[in-house]
Amino acid sequence: MNLHTAPSRAKNALIEDVRSDIVDLPFKRLQRFARHQARVQSALLIRIRSSDGLEGIGEAVVPCGPWWSGDSVETMKIMLDRYLAPQLTGRPAHDVGPVLAELDRHVRNNSFVKAGIEMALLDLVGKLHDLPIWALLGGRFRDRCPVAWPVASGDMQQDLAEMDEMLDGELVSAFKVKMGSESLHNDVRRVAKLSAALDGRAKVRVDPNEAWSELDALHAMPRLAEAGIELVEQPVRRDHLDAMARIARCSQIAVMIDEGAQSASDVVDVIGRQAAHIISLKLMKAGGLQASRRMADIAEAGGLSVYMGTFLETSIGTAAGLHLGASLPRLPLGGELVGPLLLAEDLVTTPIRYRQGAAFLPDGPGLGVVLDEDKVARFTRRE
Ligand code: MN
Repeated sequence: MNLHTAPSRAKNALIEDVRSDIVDLPFKRLQRFARHQARVQSALLIRIRSSDGLEGIGEAVVPCGPWWSGDSVETMKIMLDRYLAPQLTGRPAHDVGPVLAELDRHVRNNSFVKAGIEMALLDLVGKLHDLPIWALLGGRFRDRCPVAWPVASGDMQQDLAEMDEMLDGELVSAFKVKMGSESLHNDVRRVAKLSAALDGRAKVRVDPNEAWSELDALHAMPRLAEAGIELVEQPVRRDHLDAMARIARCSQIAVMIDEGAQSASDVVDVIGRQAAHIISLKLMKAGGLQASRRMADIAEAGGLSVYMGTFLETSIGTAAGLHLGASLPRLPLGGELVGPLLLAEDLVTTPIRYRQGAAFLPDGPGLGVVLDEDKVARFTRRE
C-alpha cells in the first residue's frame, strides 16, 4: 500500500449519476422582500454519485421566486436534467473547474443551477479524500461567520419582539431591514424606530433591493446615517453603477452592491467606477464557490470588502457559504447566512448551529452535512 498518496481509486473517480429533486420547505414566518413575500422556500436538491458509489450533495435556490434573476426551481430542474446532467456523466469528478467550463460551453448563464452542481461536486471531492471543502479552498481563517437577521415581517411590534428574541438567544449579531415596500418617508421612520429600540445592542443594515431612485437614495442616506444605520445595500437599479458611485461618494455609511455585482468582471467595473464599498457574495449569482472566491480576491485587490450574502439556502447551501467565508482572509462584517434559522424544516440530520451571534462551520468531509432522507422524502414535490 502506498502511504504517500490518496488511493488511485479515489483520484480516478468518474461522475456516474446526477439526480435532482425539488423540495418545498415552510418558513417559520412570512418573509417579505421589497416587492414580494413568501411562506415557503423551494430548493433544487442535487445529488452527484461517483463511480465508487460516493454521493456529493448540493442545492440551488432562488429567493422565493424568479424576481431576482429570472431563475426558478422548476426551470433549474429542466436545465439540469435535460442539458447539464448529460454533460457531467463520465467526466473526472476532481476536474471541478474544467467540468464547469464545459457546462458554460453548452449552457449560457444559469449560474444558480451551476452553483448547485459545483457544490455537489466539491462535496463529492471532499468525501473522496475525507477533507472538508475549506481545506480544498486553501484553509480556514475562521470557524464561524457573524450573521445579520432579516427583519421582514412588516409588523413593527412583531419585528421588535423577534429582534429581542434573536439577541437574547445570541443567535445573530446584527439586523437587516428590507426597505422599499412603503413610502420613503414612512420607510425611513420605521427603520429609525427599529434602530432606536435596539439602543446600540446590535447594528442595523438596510436593503431596498433596487427600489429607490438616485434622488430617493440621496435623500434617505443622511437620515439613515443619523439613525445609526451601518450599511445600505443596493439602493438603486443594478445597472445604474454611476448612480451607485454618486451615492457612495457622498455617503457617510457603507454602500454595498448585490444585484449589480454578479461576476468577477462586474467587480472590476465596481472598483473602476468606485460604485460601492462592499460586495455581497452569493454562491448562486456567481455560479459557485470558486467564482465567488475570484470575486472576493478581485475585491480585496481593489480595496473593497466582501460580505456573505444569502438567498435563504437550507443547511446544505449555508454550509457551502460558511466554507467559502472561512477561506477568506478578511470578512469584517460577516454576512447573513440565516436560511436554517428562518426555515421551520431542514434537509440534514444536524442543521447549521448558531451561537454567539454567528453561524458555525460544520465538521466532516465535504460540506460537513448529512442528508436526512426521511425529511427529503417528506418535502419532495410530487407532480
Ligand atoms: Mn440584497
